[in-house]
Amino acid sequence: MARAERSLPPVPLGTAALERRSELRSDAALVPRLLADPGSRVLRLHGDSVAVREGDDGSRLVLGPPEPGDALRLVVYLGEAGGVAHLGVVDDPPTGSDPALRTLRQVGAHLGATDATLFATTLALANWHRTHGFCSRCGSPTTAVLAGWLRRCTVDGSEHYPRTDPAVIMSVVDDDDRLLLATGRDFRRGGMSVLAGFVEPGETLAAAVAREVYEEVGIEVDDVTYLGDQPWPFPSSLMVGFTARAHSTELRLQDDEIAAARWFSRDELVAAIADGSLHIPGPLSIARRLLEHWYGGPVQAPEVVSLR
Ligand SMILES: [Zn+2]
Repeated sequence: MARAERSLPPVPLGTAALERRSELRSDAALVPRLLADPGSRVLRLHGDSVAVREGDDGSRLVLGPPEPGDALRLVVYLGEAGGVAHLGVVDDPPTGSDPALRTLRQVGAHLGATDATLFATTLALANWHRTHGFCSRCGSPTTAVLAGWLRRCTVDGSEHYPRTDPAVIMSVVDDDDRLLLATGRDFRRGGMSVLAGFVEPGETLAAAVAREVYEEVGIEVDDVTYLGDQPWPFPSSLMVGFTARAHSTELRLQDDEIAAARWFSRDELVAAIADGSLHIPGPLSIARRLLEHWYGGPVQAPEVVSLR
């Protein structure tokens, strides 16, 4: 059996091309100063979309200068890229259809590392601010401080940090080196992916891998090996990728979550993609990288933005 490489090929959204400069966030004058500087670059979020310019060499975010109304909007300091300060601004939702607007799911795989990180970070923070306007202790309003990286209760002063929810995602491989793929209840027809699930309180990542695989398909695994991870701001996950070895191959599906599951050899996988019966995860996802890590190289498939 060929021994797999220990790490994944580069994962989109997974490279830190941004200097976050977190030590600057406590300066309350930082954001006003950067908003007054036409040299600052602003990523402008409309709903969950930003303006993108499509070019021959891929897609690029349209990053402009601050606008007069920005001081009244939610602004987050993203850090420096290329020596230039970058801000994320949560602007109004799109009105009508702006043909340049794209979601991160649509464009993330085609952006450079810096653009992808700027978009993912702004979206993750915006998602968190959107749902944390009130204190979880006393119910009073909270306000954004620390350049958008903290919310503070206006009554009891309690501090609430941006939330990231760890999830495990894993390629499960049997003794014949076949890969397990499964169809979630909410997947589109023909869509299959590796298994994934949220980590529970009091649980290690490796234990979460074993529990999720057993719950979803009735298989015990060992040799759980970390391969890589990826921010996944839909709305606030961190996907931690593993591979694991199955003890057995007989599948017992959890009916309410898994609609179908099967083992694929490499030849079977290629054939199923070619005849259109199988849709695999799109190029943005770590699921695709885990699949390709098992396969041993890039897998050609029609691009899908999401299996759901
Ligand atoms: Zn409070």
